[in-house]
Amino acid sequence: MSELLKSGATMLSKTCPECGSPLFQVGEDIICAKCNKQVVIVKATEKEDKITEEAVLSNLEQTVLSKIKEVNKAINSENDKEKLILNSQTLSIWLDILDKIRKLRRD
Ligand SMILES: [Zn+2]
Repeated sequence: MSELLKSGATMLSKTCPECGSPLFQVGEDIICAKCNKQVVIVKATEKEDKITEEAVLSNLEQTVLSKIKEVNKAINSENDKEKLILNSQTLSIWLDILDKIRKLRRD
């Protein structure tokens, strides 16, 4: 363990799922000194979360886009001023949501 620290490894607050020993970070790798092997727990979970989030946002973006298309159609065929204003307000809300989704997806 001390040799690991001497070689520039950092001790993590997480422990090995198999033996319970503290884990060490060596560069990009997280290893257990006792089991003498690489442990991949943290990164895999983060990656999965990111994939799920991306799928939800992508789905939501499609929904919002189809709503914008519907409102656009309604505005196109509408001549009543009050209804036009109402539709424009709806459109504005959907566009705000779309903007927010796109900002989230860029992160
Ligand atoms: Zn271990």
